[in-house]
Amino acid sequence: MTTVPQIVLDGDVAIPQLGFGVFQIKPEDTAAAVSQALEAGYRHIDTAQMYGNEAQVGKAVAESGIPRDEIFVTSKLSNAAHDPAAAREATERSVDALGGPMDLYLIHWPMPAVGDFVQTWRTMQEFTEQGLTRAIGVSNFQIPHLRRLLDETDVVPAVNQIEVHPYLQQGPLRAFGREHGIVTEAWSPIAQGDVLDDPVLLALAAETGRSVAQVVLRWHLQRGDVVFPKSADPARMRENFALFDFTLNDDQTARIDALDAGRRRGPDPDEFNWIPD
Ligand code: NDP
Repeated sequence: MTTVPQIVLDGDVAIPQLGFGVFQIKPEDTAAAVSQALEAGYRHIDTAQMYGNEAQVGKAVAESGIPRDEIFVTSKLSNAAHDPAAAREATERSVDALGGPMDLYLIHWPMPAVGDFVQTWRTMQEFTEQGLTRAIGVSNFQIPHLRRLLDETDVVPAVNQIEVHPYLQQGPLRAFGREHGIVTEAWSPIAQGDVLDDPVLLALAAETGRSVAQVVLRWHLQRGDVVFPKSADPARMRENFALFDFTLNDDQTARIDALDAGRRRGPDPDEFNWIPD
């Protein structure tokens, strides 16, 4: 059985560095996908209220036969629920859907033009006190957003979950996190497939005898970030989990580092203010 390294978050909560993401897996397919991921060895599932599949994650976890404290579950506050009263109600719904408290709970987007994310962050702190989640953090926060949380509140986010892949390496934001004890979680770690036909990465795959996805995921792990690739295919789930029997050397990581292009696959957090119906 593969042992995935754990990273200790502020407050002594240990998170497996490699997990499984369920964004864009349809609710009706999610329980099966999560069961297959658990069978492949994953013990960390990343979902969100806005993905619409928390209940199916909860069902697969409950029916897995694996003790709940051996599986790490993250979910995220909906963009529609930044207001404190709405946040409390939405969080209770997430906990119900998941069948119990979360391990990690994030503000999904800062929504800078819509509400006051500092007030939302203060509300999130109630949820750890109430035992609804073991740790809290944020997602898609930029340096000025994080700075406000650090300046105006007493609780440092355990993580910042942001878009990171070879074409968007996020040097300054990751360094800011490191400096302040905020662990970076890299979403869309293979840029939703965009990096798979890159000539430099194809050459590295040939050189290491691994797939491009494995090379890129290994690069993330060696940088110290948490990753949770999504796949609906059991063979690719296993492929993305087989990362612990090879390493990239300094020359190989430098060639990936050189691919940084500041190119996003997803929305820009400074401009994304979308609210679901
Ligand atoms: P990923 O970078 O994980 O890429 C997923 C895509 O790559 C799918 O189309 C998948 O297809 C394909 N794929 C996966 N593995 C392989 C492989 N080994 N070879 C070839 N193709 C492969 O993108 P995501 O956007 O899903 O990011 C991962 C997770 O990050 C999400 O599921 C979610 O949990 C989180 N996330 C968080 C966001 C946030 O705002 N906080 C935003 C976006 C994502 P197939 O399924 O057919 O294998």
